[in-house]
Amino acid sequence: MADEAVIGLECHIQLRTRSKMFCACAAGYGAPPNSLVCPVCLGLPGALPVANRAAVEAGLRLGLALGCAVPERSVFARKNYFYPDMPKGYQITQYEAPLCTGGALPLAPGPRPVAILRLHLEEDTGKSLHPARRGDRAVSRLDFNRAGVPLAELVTEPVFREPAECAAFLTALRRLVRWLGVSDGDMEKGQLRCDANVSLRDPGTGRPGVRTELKNLNSIHGVERGIAAEIARQRVLRAAGDEVAPATLLYDVEHDRLAVMRVKESAHDYRYFPEPDLPPLRVDAAWRERVRAGLPELPWARAERLAAEHGLSAHEAEVLCGQRELADYFEACAAVAGGGPACTWVTREVL
Ligand code: ADP
Ligand code: MG
Ligand code: ZN
Repeated sequence: MADEAVIGLECHIQLRTRSKMFCACAAGYGAPPNSLVCPVCLGLPGALPVANRAAVEAGLRLGLALGCAVPERSVFARKNYFYPDMPKGYQITQYEAPLCTGGALPLAPGPRPVAILRLHLEEDTGKSLHPARRGDRAVSRLDFNRAGVPLAELVTEPVFREPAECAAFLTALRRLVRWLGVSDGDMEKGQLRCDANVSLRDPGTGRPGVRTELKNLNSIHGVERGIAAEIARQRVLRAAGDEVAPATLLYDVEHDRLAVMRVKESAHDYRYFPEPDLPPLRVDAAWRERVRAGLPELPWARAERLAAEHGLSAHEAEVLCGQRELADYFEACAAVAGGGPACTWVTREVL
């Protein structure tokens, strides 16, 4: 038997809010560098963070749409590491007590839903721009506009076997975040980013082997190609009798090349501890149920309903539910012209 791949994804979703995660700066895109900053997101001493309710609600919307459990209490933590685009020297994230746990994303029609491990809130880092030039010297520049922008990190169980399943998952996730209005989900703008964990199952013991992590895959195509390249690399190593080392890799989609970025750090290197400047986040049942009640009909449920009500194929219903606006438009047309003609009109002529 060929050694099967085991893949789990960590997806970062930039939440669409007016202000940042822990300060009142605008969470904007494309503004002049370092124009959307304040003492909090620049990490100046003494500045205190305050959690953004709208970001919490956006995270809850996504988690509840995925059928996650929402514990009453979640905790912000400091993840300590040095990087020039992170002025505080730590990132505020959630670690031991995330906002949401469990849940699944249906990949309709056909394969089993993808099991979710957790969904937590955190802040984005700034951006390094390099190399920029000053005279004849190459310099790096830092833009902190993105520092502190709210993110939801969604972590799947290691349930994928094929790169194509990962691409299908990301397509479904992008549709969902747009459907819910929690993110624009534009991968080119970094609003949806994905890291992939890849290992090979040992054909003898059946246990997954050492895993590597592919960072910053910034298109669905890149995710699929990058994972395929990493599976191939691990298979070559294994065939030669070599060990796969735990590592973080970067994938260059243009040249179809993998590069080892660093030997993977483990959780204890980050010295996580509860964020002393933020109280635990409490989401009581009333808040949770109010958010749940505000969810729209979800895309997979709507596709099923449209198929049943209008006698459409699962595939047709899926196409019509590719975007919420399209499904709305289809239903408006169907009310006038009937489901069959409306489906033909929308899927053939309009699209
Ligand atoms: P870390 O903190 O090192 O990122 P996590 O426990 O958060 O570790 O897991 C990260 C991701 O790794 C998850 O998406 C999970 O599904 C995936 N994963 C766990 N074990 C394996 C494995 N053996 N092969 C591939 N992916 C795995
Ligand atoms: Mg990780
Ligand atoms: Zn700020």
